[in-house]
Amino acid sequence: MSPAERHTHLCAQIAKHDYSYYVLDAPTISDRAYDALFHELKALEAAHPELVTPFSPTQRVSDQPREGAVKVPHDQPMYSLDNTYDESALREFDRRVRDGLKRDTTVRYVVEPKLDGASLEVIFEGGSLTHGITRGDGRVGEDVTDNVRAIRGIPLRVDELRRMTLRGEVVIYRRDLEEVNEARLAEGAEPFANPRNAAAGSLRLLDARLSAQRPLRVFFYELVEHLFPTHNAALNALRGLGLPTHGLQDVCGDLDGVFASIKRFNRLRETLPYETDGMVVKVDELAQRELLGSTARFPRWAIAYKFAAEQASTRVKSITYDVGRTGAITPVANLEPVSLSGTTVARASLHNIDYVADKDVRIGDTVIIEKAGEIIPQVVNVDSSQRPPSTTPWKPPKACPVCGQPATRAAEAAALRCTNSTCPGRVKAGLYYFTRRSAMNIDRLGKALIEQLVDRGLVQDPGDIFGLADKREQLLAFERLANKSVDNVLNAIDEAREHRTLSQLLTGLGIPLVGAVAARLIAETFQNLENLLATDPEEIQTRLDDLHGIGPKIAESVARFFEDPLHRNVCKKLLAHGVTARQPVREPPAKGGPLSGQSLCVTGVLSQPRNSIHERIRAAGGQVHDRVRKGTTYLVVGDKVGKAKLATAAKHGTEVIDEARLEQLLDG
Ligand code: AMP
Ligand code: ZN
Repeated sequence: MSPAERHTHLCAQIAKHDYSYYVLDAPTISDRAYDALFHELKALEAAHPELVTPFSPTQRVSDQPREGAVKVPHDQPMYSLDNTYDESALREFDRRVRDGLKRDTTVRYVVEPKLDGASLEVIFEGGSLTHGITRGDGRVGEDVTDNVRAIRGIPLRVDELRRMTLRGEVVIYRRDLEEVNEARLAEGAEPFANPRNAAAGSLRLLDARLSAQRPLRVFFYELVEHLFPTHNAALNALRGLGLPTHGLQDVCGDLDGVFASIKRFNRLRETLPYETDGMVVKVDELAQRELLGSTARFPRWAIAYKFAAEQASTRVKSITYDVGRTGAITPVANLEPVSLSGTTVARASLHNIDYVADKDVRIGDTVIIEKAGEIIPQVVNVDSSQRPPSTTPWKPPKACPVCGQPATRAAEAAALRCTNSTCPGRVKAGLYYFTRRSAMNIDRLGKALIEQLVDRGLVQDPGDIFGLADKREQLLAFERLANKSVDNVLNAIDEAREHRTLSQLLTGLGIPLVGAVAARLIAETFQNLENLLATDPEEIQTRLDDLHGIGPKIAESVARFFEDPLHRNVCKKLLAHGVTARQPVREPPAKGGPLSGQSLCVTGVLSQPRNSIHERIRAAGGQVHDRVRKGTTYLVVGDKVGKAKLATAAKHGTEVIDEARLEQLLDG
């Protein structure tokens, strides 16, 4: 096979596996085998840069963050949907539709799920994905094309040359939310309350590299252009083109069919990986849609039938507090157990201390709880008619409910925090975090076991976990911990001792601002924990400052972390207990390559995609800077270069070169 044929073959294979994985949710090869294909493609493109096209899977993620939100008008407005919670309104809708058409024509409806995420418009022109735009206010949205290109469930090219304007919903699967939130917490950000907020927030990130880290999926539900006679035919055609659609529509000949479909779906929705908040009933015939038209706010040919969020009412027995890893104190309502959406609920979130005060929730109150997409049920209201006479207003705690040290608040509306770094509440939350999947992945160490380990003084920090092997006897004395389970726990710890990467370890240590992405970059720079400990914190900071993808705040935070004797001790303990945590070397930087020791910044439009130029510079031993700064050797300029960039180059004594000169340098 010629390199060009191999290239085409690899691109097609990867696209096929992306579809199985991200759309069908049924992977057909192992992650390893997939990575191998990807790796081969990258190597092939490094050797034959002329093969790189904008559609290559290696070109999905742009490494140039957008400067800010760019507004783009929609060719056709993205309307809201008229909506209702009851059946009689559906009958009225059906009557209005019939009145709007000739009385005796038959009307078919398509009934499909209303996905609860963020709406998105994606445009294909001449077979290529050219635009991704958020809904915005319906008339003008935000350009998120680079983030949309990074969503691997969407093909970059399809076999349909006509222009297609697709509308769809960006969602995050329920099961993926936990990991997204763990990463958020690691970065010091508030977790998302539900998959919808997570999807909307991730879609609009300005840096596609960060957006690409979020497990975003898209399902298309409309094709704006009338290329097919019916909506159902359009949905099927999209699916046939390899575009992700929900594939769950029913075509109904009459209203009874519509009601039956809604009923059937109401049972199905719990089993779907994403959230839905209702059904959409749409006229199937596109010619009929044209006759019906739209009001100023919504189309006359569709209506949303929403599912009411399930609620229950119960009594608050007490209000307690969760203390998180970073010290945030969250109030929780402990309830008379009540059944809600098929589970028994005994605890509900009260969000934060302002929330409790605003809603005036008191012990003894009857409250309404709801589970609407959120993982944890929440208290939505107090039923004040049921308030017993003896209740007193709730008062926020002045001290940490776990360790008794004073609790503080940085600002109005900020979380109440325990600032004691040895607070058992914080220690337990930190250990739990350390053992999660994105970190050291020792999930045999669950919350309850960690609780006991800390309470009995066996574990105080992550280092102690790896010393448990010598404490088998003490572990056997634990309630409900039989011989076999002790062995399982110890084996899982041993496995983690030997097989985790430095980046997983760094993630687990919970360095402020350091999430999984930053952790990997730091790990690749320092290779192992010994190196990090042996490097002067100032030098750690300088080296990280130079890294593409790590901001000065993160560099500073890492330096402060490794300066602190408490943290240094934990790291030494980890090493003493034989935790290896090495980082696999990615592509060994070419030593003695023609560009070794040089750093380059590339700007403007060049003859090849910027990603592949970066790859070639790195392959030649050069470093890539994302902006010109002190020490940047060359600024490579293409067309359309801003004056500011050139001025910065002049200031730092950076030599400005063109693409031809770069080629000479690459050739040595
Ligand atoms: P609303 O936000 O209540 O005005 O409802 C309109 C929104 O529902 C649209 O902007 C879409 O984002 C969303 N939606 C989700 N699923 C569908 C679907 N199957 N058909 C049409 N709209 C949908
Ligand atoms: Zn405390």
